[in-house]
Amino acid sequence: MPKTSPDRRGLLIILSSPSGAGKSTLAKRLRAWDDTIRFSVSATTRAPRPGEIDGADYHFLAEADFKTQVADGGMLEHAHVFGNFYGSPKAAVQEAIDAGQDVLFDIDWQGAQQIRNSSLADHTLSIFLLPPSITELHRRLQTRAQDSDEVIAKRMQKSWDEISHWDAYDYVLVNDDLDATEAKLKAILTAARLRRTQQPQLTDHVRKLQKEFEETL
Ligand code: ADP
Ligand code: 5GP
Repeated sequence: MPKTSPDRRGLLIILSSPSGAGKSTLAKRLRAWDDTIRFSVSATTRAPRPGEIDGADYHFLAEADFKTQVADGGMLEHAHVFGNFYGSPKAAVQEAIDAGQDVLFDIDWQGAQQIRNSSLADHTLSIFLLPPSITELHRRLQTRAQDSDEVIAKRMQKSWDEISHWDAYDYVLVNDDLDATEAKLKAILTAARLRRTQQPQLTDHVRKLQKEFEETL
């Protein structure tokens, strides 16, 4: 079981980028650094890729089931991406952040926008990754060797649509050197965890300081 920190509230950490810029790689590094960070396992109507595990990589749902969950208010956000529906189930997120655990979302700009406009906006940290160049983005998609040429071409076509929303995020990192980006990401997360709104126990602490102040001075 991951450790919990009831002294603080969990953050919703949103990582977006065009496909291939490095979200999954950096998300894994963040988790290796702090294993209390949870991944939000999205629901999707797309078919599983070879090796993908239902419930771990995604919750693979039929379109009718996905739409029922949306209609029942069970999704924190949802969007249509690359011809399929994707969404973040709400219950798991609420449970984690109430227990003081951060939840990491690998979602597109539409999902990020919906979370920023939700009641959880104050507890959200959004980070956008830019590639150093479009040529390098293409090279990364090719060297990942996960998709056919046709799928890579489709992802490249969509990349500008995603990049054009870069300025709606709290932080934007150019993922050139992987180790340097990882270090920046950790610094951003460390600071965001210290936001006043993430430390509900501060109110009690300040009350104690006030009491002591009044008693001693
Ligand atoms: P995304 O999850 O955004 O689609 P990935 O994390 O799968 O992207 O990264 C795409 C490919 O690029 C992977 O093969 C990954 O190892 C590589 N990669 C990620 N970041 C860098 C980097 N800074 N420099 C070089 N290669 C990188
Ligand atoms: P893929 O099919 O390659 O796993 O993901 C395709 C795109 O869908 C990626 O840009 C990813 O960030 C986005 N995505 C994955 N899950 C969600 C989700 O729950 N909500 C939204 N809005 N986008 C998602």
